[in-house]
Amino acid sequence: MSENKEPRTVKFVYDFTEGNKDLKDLLGGKGANLAEMTNLGLPVPPGFTITTEACKVYLDSGEEPVALRDEVTAHLDALEQKMGKKLGQPDNPLLVSVRSGAKFSMPGMMDTVLNIGLGDKSVQGLAKQAGDERFAWDSYRRLIQMFGKTVLGIDGELFEDALEAAKSAKKVQVDTDLEATDLKKLVTKFKKIVKTEAGRDFPQDPREQMDLAIKAVFDSWNGDRAKLYRRQERIPHDLGTAVNVCSMVFGNLGPDSGTGVAFTRDPASGHQGVYGDYLQNAQGEDVVAGIRNTVPLAELEQIDKKSYDQLMQIMETLENHYKDLCDIEFTIERGQLWMLQTRVGKRTAGAAFRIATQLVDQGLIDEAEALQRVNGAQLAQLMFPRFDEDAKVQMIGRGIAASPGAAVGKAVFDSYTAIKWSRSGEKVILIRRETNPDDLDGMIAAEGILTSRGGKTSHAAVVARGMGKTCVCGAEELEVDTKRRRLTVNGTVVEEGDVISIDGSSGKVYLGEVPVVPSPVVEYFEGRMHAGADDADELVEAVHRIMAFADRKRRLRVRANADNAEDALRARRFGAQGIGLCRTEHMFLGDRRELVERLILADSEAEREESLKELLPLQKQDFVQLFEATDGLPVTIRLLDPPLHEFLPDITELSVRVALAESRKDANENDLRLLQAVHRLHEQNPMLGLRGVRLGLVIPGLFTMQVRAIAEAAAERKAAKGDPRAEIMIPLVGTVQELEIVREEADEVIAEVEAATGTKLKLAIGTMIELPRAALTAGQIAEAAQFFSFGTNDLTQTVWGFSRDDVEASFFTAYLEKGIFGVSPFETIDKDGVGSLVKAAAEAGRATRPDLKLGVCGEHGGDPESVHFFHEVGLDYVSCSPFRIPVARLEAGRAASTSTGSDHR
Ligand code: ADP
Ligand code: MG
Ligand code: MG
Repeated sequence: MSENKEPRTVKFVYDFTEGNKDLKDLLGGKGANLAEMTNLGLPVPPGFTITTEACKVYLDSGEEPVALRDEVTAHLDALEQKMGKKLGQPDNPLLVSVRSGAKFSMPGMMDTVLNIGLGDKSVQGLAKQAGDERFAWDSYRRLIQMFGKTVLGIDGELFEDALEAAKSAKKVQVDTDLEATDLKKLVTKFKKIVKTEAGRDFPQDPREQMDLAIKAVFDSWNGDRAKLYRRQERIPHDLGTAVNVCSMVFGNLGPDSGTGVAFTRDPASGHQGVYGDYLQNAQGEDVVAGIRNTVPLAELEQIDKKSYDQLMQIMETLENHYKDLCDIEFTIERGQLWMLQTRVGKRTAGAAFRIATQLVDQGLIDEAEALQRVNGAQLAQLMFPRFDEDAKVQMIGRGIAASPGAAVGKAVFDSYTAIKWSRSGEKVILIRRETNPDDLDGMIAAEGILTSRGGKTSHAAVVARGMGKTCVCGAEELEVDTKRRRLTVNGTVVEEGDVISIDGSSGKVYLGEVPVVPSPVVEYFEGRMHAGADDADELVEAVHRIMAFADRKRRLRVRANADNAEDALRARRFGAQGIGLCRTEHMFLGDRRELVERLILADSEAEREESLKELLPLQKQDFVQLFEATDGLPVTIRLLDPPLHEFLPDITELSVRVALAESRKDANENDLRLLQAVHRLHEQNPMLGLRGVRLGLVIPGLFTMQVRAIAEAAAERKAAKGDPRAEIMIPLVGTVQELEIVREEADEVIAEVEAATGTKLKLAIGTMIELPRAALTAGQIAEAAQFFSFGTNDLTQTVWGFSRDDVEASFFTAYLEKGIFGVSPFETIDKDGVGSLVKAAAEAGRATRPDLKLGVCGEHGGDPESVHFFHEVGLDYVSCSPFRIPVARLEAGRAASTSTGSDHR
């Protein structure tokens, strides 16, 4: 529809000499880095990059911009001049590669096509000019193969099969044993495949080859796989991809040529050294495709000392220039080294921490930058227990690392058995082809979950992550036979009851019990290992230093969700600066249940008061212990929240008991009353029923008993010269009136205790913001609240209208696969919806009460991306489970030092 009227000033093609590494938006990652290397004076084969802008025009209008063709022609002319030969020139052809390269490297984009420009005539010219007929025909067959597959969309297997057939006809193992005549025949075969499959001849016009390949790169931006990936990673769909046209250099010109990959440091340990692989007489992906055995990069020193030395020099230059671990692709053509790609390299979690501190020590980066080189997900990974690396193991397969951890147990193939066995104290691993909502109870019962189908968004993966349970999914080599209750993998059979071990951080599956060792990083946080000690490893030392950087930078405080003294002490060790959420429901369970039943069943005021009076000293004692453990730190105590039926016996069990007793004619009076109460309290949607502040308003004396217990405990601690800092938090408030009533009663009780003990207590009273109405009326609520704590779990449920337990198991997989969200809103805060309520409520609350303290106590408080959001909207603290505290500290530090907008991913 559009007429491609782009202004004349837009430039669609950049020579490698014109770009630089900061132009990733325009030139893509590959193009920007090729330009950077060119301008560093490194040996990069000349070429040019077609910008993402050109791609955008193509995607919008369905046609390449008019000016593009001319610009490509001009740049090609210049390239031909520089190289002294013309694209596809029969007697001395210039050949190029056409390579896709978007801002972010992405699966599903078009594979590179090498040797573009070759045809029936120029293959002869290439042979003559290189003095090597085999090489020329090898290059030609590769071109037809790659072009056929990626540009013309022909099934690659057809070419692979023909190549295999040629090798077996000749009784040779590897492609290099095929001679010129064999390859010539293969070319004929390949051309036939093109003709039948694509319905056209393989194009002989070199420019047509190039143009088709460029267009195919543009088109691949909208391939299904690329689209899905972008939706999931939230990469905008309108970025477009760049296209790089790069003059060919040849690693397949004989034994003095070859191709390789290298890292400037070990991506596993971070150590500097010589890491990489090299393959002689090979082109392009051969080195990683496993078609022949590669040699370790260090051996290149013997093969070609000059190129090796030059490569080492270049690697050092690159590292100092990028100030980070780089990975590199290179080719040697008859003793001449060429650089074909570099980028900041991927690394393991442990290496990320080590490399960051190593680079600080080398003076290449500062502390703020070091924080950008690591992230909370990596730290979390380092905190899981892991399998003993020195143990003798028998690995039987590998799947997708879907939810981290190391789990060992007996193999079971159905949920029922999982539950039965785990009830009798066995540890089990639930193995399924894939899971569905019927497997939920089995998943809860299992130590870990293993499936042979499905990816990171499969049911098993989503639910396991939600439960924090180890999961390996999509281990495709495993044949899971649920009927015969066994799995087969490469000849090994695992029967029901056999022990297996699964590693949710690596995706590896082992037969037998692999010993589990605690994470040294956790040992460090627990204070059982010291960073300076002799036996502390480099990793612990690095984590220690990075945490110190983070603590120095961060503005957000980090608290823990902890319900008892033991958890509170651990949280302190992990660096918590207080308790953001102490739930009190456990104080009503166990042997106190009977008192609670009496409270609920009470017919008279006197009966109710009696049971409350008995609960009071018990709860007070709990608080005394808690205040001891948290001396000097703030502790937010939430008054009773869950619906009452949770404290009563299960309705079915009780009904059966009563029915049996009645049939024996000895029905127990208490059971009958209980059953009535259970029926009365039964709710269709307990999550939205009688709970939170509503309980406090409906059951006289309940909240005041809790407040009294807190106040008396605080007074006792003060008398003992302690420093208790309790904050009383009212859950599920929807309107300020609810809070006002509870507060008045609480203030009275506190005043009584103060008078009776002669101590000033300074107890703050605040509320959770976990209902949309509370968020929307936060300005009013702040009049009665001294602090807000955003309960983002319930807020997410109520804003979305999701019942978490129901939706995660039933349809989140579908939502994730359709890309409706890239990550569950229960994992990472939904910034646009839930987040905007948090932001607005925080602002409204502070407008009413400028010193209002603001925190968050949902699971999001320990989620990296969410922590950044809470930092941005100006909360005072996040609170999360003790185990996530280091992650929150780190991410809070990173959030406070990202303002420069580093694009380090
Ligand atoms: P990817 O994005 O998959 O890494 P590349 O564009 O880097 O794809 O290319 C695939 C392979 O082809 C790599 O091994 C690369 O080094 C090689 N290659 C690309 N262009 C050339 C060229 N002009 N000469 C020689 N080899 C090349
Ligand atoms: Mg590459
Ligand atoms: Mg809640």
